[in-house]
Amino acid sequence: MILDAHAHYDDPAFDADRDALIASLPAAGIGLVVNAGSDLASSRASVALAERWPFFRAAVGIHPHEASSWDGAAERELRALAAHPRAVALGEIGLDYHYDLSPRDVQKRVFERQLALAEELGLPVVLHEREALSDTLEILARHPGAKGMFHCFSGSPETAAECVKNGWYISLGGAVTFKNAKRPPAVMASVPGNRLLTETDCPYMAPVPFRGRRCDSTMIRQVLEAGAALRNEDEASLEAQIFANGLRFFRVDDL
Ligand SMILES: [Zn+2]
Repeated sequence: MILDAHAHYDDPAFDADRDALIASLPAAGIGLVVNAGSDLASSRASVALAERWPFFRAAVGIHPHEASSWDGAAERELRALAAHPRAVALGEIGLDYHYDLSPRDVQKRVFERQLALAEELGLPVVLHEREALSDTLEILARHPGAKGMFHCFSGSPETAAECVKNGWYISLGGAVTFKNAKRPPAVMASVPGNRLLTETDCPYMAPVPFRGRRCDSTMIRQVLEAGAALRNEDEASLEAQIFANGLRFFRVDDL
């Protein structure tokens, strides 16, 4: 069965056919989808999706873009959402210096607050990092109790190896299939099989040959095909190993 460790089915891109599309996923081999929040509204929506669909779970968190919205009330609601039995992770949280939609000092502070919350609640983290790797690693070093996955990992194989050594998982999606991408295929080829996760980040990041189209979890098939070739492994066993990683990472034992 296929793992989609990071999706956004609450996105308006799915408004026209959300229920029909999600209902069709199990027949296409999708076994677990973790829908990630990026603010309070999408975190609530992620929990609602996880309540409705047995193979969905929720990550709840405040994305660095939305860091300026953080306050005591937001923290209280996030805590309540994270306590839901179908909430399996805190995310997506992190730093994004590409868009800088919130000031960097605010991004760092809100990231640290949520890492501390993850440590306190014993939940894994779904990490968003864009053009902010050195600050991210510096902050993670201050929170050794917080562990999680790098969503859509974009660093080098050497950085991936370092993160794996520190107990983190590496999640890869459509970029593994992009002809002009160097790092994601190299990371796919080199990450230890027991630390690898697959994701879509749908509706974004559709793999080749669907680039530019709306992405959905069925397109992870293309990521697994490319991954099996890059790793010189059998596709079915790679798929099974990644699914087992997903169950272990998100501590899902009631599917
Ligand atoms: Zn995302």
